[in-house]
Amino acid sequence: MKYDLCIQNAHMIDPATKRNGRYHIWVHDGRIAKVISSDEHQVEGMTDAIEIILADEMIVTPGLIDLHVHVYEENTPSGIAADRIGVEQGVTTVVDAGSAGVDTFKNFVSQSIEPSRTEILAWINISRQGFCDGRSELADLSLLEPERTVELVKKEKRIIGIKARMSGSVVKQSGIVPLQVAKKAARELGLPLMIHIGNAPPELFEILPLLDKGDVVTHAFHGKKGGIFTSDGTLLPEAQEALERGVIFDVGHGTSSFSFRTMRLALSLGIKPKTISTDIYRQNFDGPVHSLPTTMSKLLALGVSLEEVIEMTTSTPAQILRRADQIGTMKEGTIADISLLKIVNEEITLTDSEKEEMIAHEYIQPVVTVKAGKVFTCYQ
Ligand SMILES: [Zn+2]
Repeated sequence: MKYDLCIQNAHMIDPATKRNGRYHIWVHDGRIAKVISSDEHQVEGMTDAIEIILADEMIVTPGLIDLHVHVYEENTPSGIAADRIGVEQGVTTVVDAGSAGVDTFKNFVSQSIEPSRTEILAWINISRQGFCDGRSELADLSLLEPERTVELVKKEKRIIGIKARMSGSVVKQSGIVPLQVAKKAARELGLPLMIHIGNAPPELFEILPLLDKGDVVTHAFHGKKGGIFTSDGTLLPEAQEALERGVIFDVGHGTSSFSFRTMRLALSLGIKPKTISTDIYRQNFDGPVHSLPTTMSKLLALGVSLEEVIEMTTSTPAQILRRADQIGTMKEGTIADISLLKIVNEEITLTDSEKEEMIAHEYIQPVVTVKAGKVFTCYQ
């Protein structure tokens, strides 16, 4: 038989199956059909695939997963085209974080999810409109509709959890109440919460004790006041306890939510992000965020290993999405979502949300994306 695609002699890094070495990968009918070590199989004369990618110079990983993006282009000012930050950048699955709520989700499906080649999943906003009616969506508690939200989520498998943005400009006088409402709904559904943190109120010591194992704190390494570190650089006891309980600290870079200084301090104490996400949207696409590979390059430059950076964008987010048996892995039989990346050994200036610049000597560049077996060339 002829396979649809063969990726030849790639340096494959797959944390899910703990493989790190030279492999040939065959794809057929949208699935990973066969993975064989280059040592055991000579490439010469290999003609058993319709399309062949010579990948000697490339790193091959499971398709990258971005746990926090905004892709509701039609109805929110921040929404960016999913494919622009997805399959055109090595990313096969993106998770929209609260752009849509129960009132707007149907429109989000028809306008963004269905037309995109990139797979879009969603954290639904506990506020009924999501971002479709301004950015203080939790200030008016009458806009929170947990019952209708729960009913929708039960029917809609693309919703993987509930989002609440717990910072001053979003909640105004509502305090901690929106989080309590979102949590009750999430626990009823057995799904995780994604909580955005930023400027108080509410204070982080009020928010973190409410989170359970598997809940996600996005923007965990921001550089604003009231973050996970006190002004003298010690870790907040509530943050320590949250980490011990298994609460997930996610990067969620965004325009104003990722600080090299905070991240360096955390790494020096042995605290690593569990997941790397971008919080990419129209206004930060041209900087400081750019893409998921750029955000991964920043963590690499801060000293996180390439294997870990890949784990934080493949197998770990796949587990949070409860799809680890299908994506975030190069296991035979799973969906053929694959990223072909290059490590470019060139000097590059990387910038965080605090406008701090860092010179790095290598960066990750996406070259080709395979989404369910279909091949896309990345935007350079
Ligand atoms: Zn966001």
